Amino acid sequence: MRTFELTRATSVEEALDALTAGAQAIAGGTELLNWLKEGIEAPARLVDINRLPLDRIEFADDRVRLGALCRMSDVAAHPELTREFPVLVQSLLRAASPQLRNMATLGGNLMQRTRCPYFRADTGLPCNKRVPGSGCSARHGDTTSAAILGWSDDCVATHPSDLAVALAALDAVVVVRGPEGERRIPATSFHRLPGDEPARHNDLRPDELITAIEVPRGGKRFSHYLKVRERVSYEFAVVSAAAVVEWDGETITRARVALGGVAHRPYRMELVGVPMSRLAEAVRLTRARPLPGNEYKVTLAERAAVRAIKEAMS
Ligand SMILES: Cc1cc2nc3c(=O)[nH]c(=O)nc-3n(C[C@H](O)[C@H](O)[C@H](O)COP(=O)(O)OP(=O)(O)OC[C@H]3O[C@@H](n4cnc5c(N)ncnc54)[C@H](O)[C@@H]3O)c2cc1C
Ligand code: SF4
Repeated sequence: MRTFELTRATSVEEALDALTAGAQAIAGGTELLNWLKEGIEAPARLVDINRLPLDRIEFADDRVRLGALCRMSDVAAHPELTREFPVLVQSLLRAASPQLRNMATLGGNLMQRTRCPYFRADTGLPCNKRVPGSGCSARHGDTTSAAILGWSDDCVATHPSDLAVALAALDAVVVVRGPEGERRIPATSFHRLPGDEPARHNDLRPDELITAIEVPRGGKRFSHYLKVRERVSYEFAVVSAAAVVEWDGETITRARVALGGVAHRPYRMELVGVPMSRLAEAVRLTRARPLPGNEYKVTLAERAAVRAIKEAMS
């Protein structure tokens, strides 16, 4: 049995001091506790951040600020968010289970790690995310759930967060705090493509904390989150599509579309002035590089994008 020290922070500063001293943050614990059990992480010190004042939902004229400790279920049940950002609320409601959503936080959701079976299973098979430099079993192994965009020979994993996909389509910003102050990271680049450093999952430094997510407001737009999965509930996405659409009745004046399940970060597309008759052509994934075994994802993702756009407008 491994032991660890647990402290509770009551201010952001206290939490940052603990992170600087090498502690790892724990929020809802729905992901981190699995890592401890599966041997993915073995931190000597945890800092419980649940008492920090980061659980508010605040509306300003130009944006909504969601505290990093907001529970997924609270955000999903918020009437104004449901009205203004269907894509955001749908991405949360289609994730995990009600019990998990009651515990799980927005910050923790963005920090979750890939569901690549070689990463999760304690099989001892090579995995560069789990043991840097050991190799990638998925590259020439089971690629069914692997990426079709942005992968490298060192890692072909996808990122599983539904929320991240919705935030990418909404042009949201992840607000983080560290010893040197605040940084604002576009949701589209918070997660990293693997390159030759697959063990780095996102842009957050170990001594930084996500404090909030900011979602811009304004404009007349319609949105929808479509999640394609192997069963209708309690399952991660095979592919997903978030669409935020402005249209004049005939032409899509602007659509921001993000795809999940296709890369290690949401794959973002922008459509401007596209007639409905040319929609399928406009979302074609010409840069996709499917692996043997996941070619189906290219067509699935393109069709999911079209359907998410149409659902948003309906
Ligand atoms: C069975 C199961 C099914 C799931 N299905 C889905 C799904 O379909 N779609 C989906 O999107 N997700 C799914 N999830 C993931 C779930 O949403 C995450 O486990 C949850 O959001 C993590 O939040 P948490 O607060 O529990 O994080 P924790 O477990 O507490 O922490 C996870 C990581 O985030 C870090 N962290 C937490 N908060 C912060 C912060 N504010 N700043 C910096 N680092 C932080 C921790 O240090 C840790 O590294 C599923 C999880 C499980 C267990
Ligand atoms: S795809 Fe990434 S997570 Fe999966 S085995 Fe390869 S290195 Fe590990």
